[in-house]
Amino acid sequence: MSLPIYLIGARGCGKTTVGMALSQALGYAFSDTDHFLQQSTQRTVADIVATEGWDGFRQRETQSLMAVTASSTVIATGGGMVLAEGNCDFMREHGTVIYLNAEAKVLAARLEAYPEQEQRPTLTGRPIADEMVEVLSQRDRLYHQAAHHVINAMQTPEQVVRQLLQTLSLARA
Ligand code: ADP
Ligand code: MG
Repeated sequence: MSLPIYLIGARGCGKTTVGMALSQALGYAFSDTDHFLQQSTQRTVADIVATEGWDGFRQRETQSLMAVTASSTVIATGGGMVLAEGNCDFMREHGTVIYLNAEAKVLAARLEAYPEQEQRPTLTGRPIADEMVEVLSQRDRLYHQAAHHVINAMQTPEQVVRQLLQTLSLARA
């Protein structure tokens, strides 16, 4: 049995893009906790936050993490998954946790280039570049603490996948 691989990191670091490519390379299934949450509730993240607040959203996010956890699966997690210590413990106990690490300005540039892909309301209402600096200042430590491995996500998706495969094969050797 092959343990699940959890990808963690801020919005725009490539969890969905890289995660799908990694799952194909490994012959694994792919799941995305944000996507699962939206499919299972038939609501957008913005709608859930508007009616249930961020606390309600976070509870549903934890439920989604547990629901998608399965062997031989690459799991892209929501950017705020690490905010609950229980989620971090759960991921570390059930599989391999990988932080896709990128600087705030790189994340902001990606999100600005494709704003329509991002349905989540901004956390602060400020410009995306400022917001990413603030988000990383709060979460970078949590991402590092939760991760078994940290990968430089500021390379092409192909390079990131190659590095992931190398890291995973070394980890399993
Ligand atoms: P996440 O799921 O972590 O929020 P996505 O995979 O949705 O991130 O990527 C956000 C945006 O950045 C997308 O437009 C995607 O095409 C782009 N992107 C993702 N990874 C890379 C990369 N390594 N290099 C350049 N652009 C990327
Ligand atoms: Mg994503």
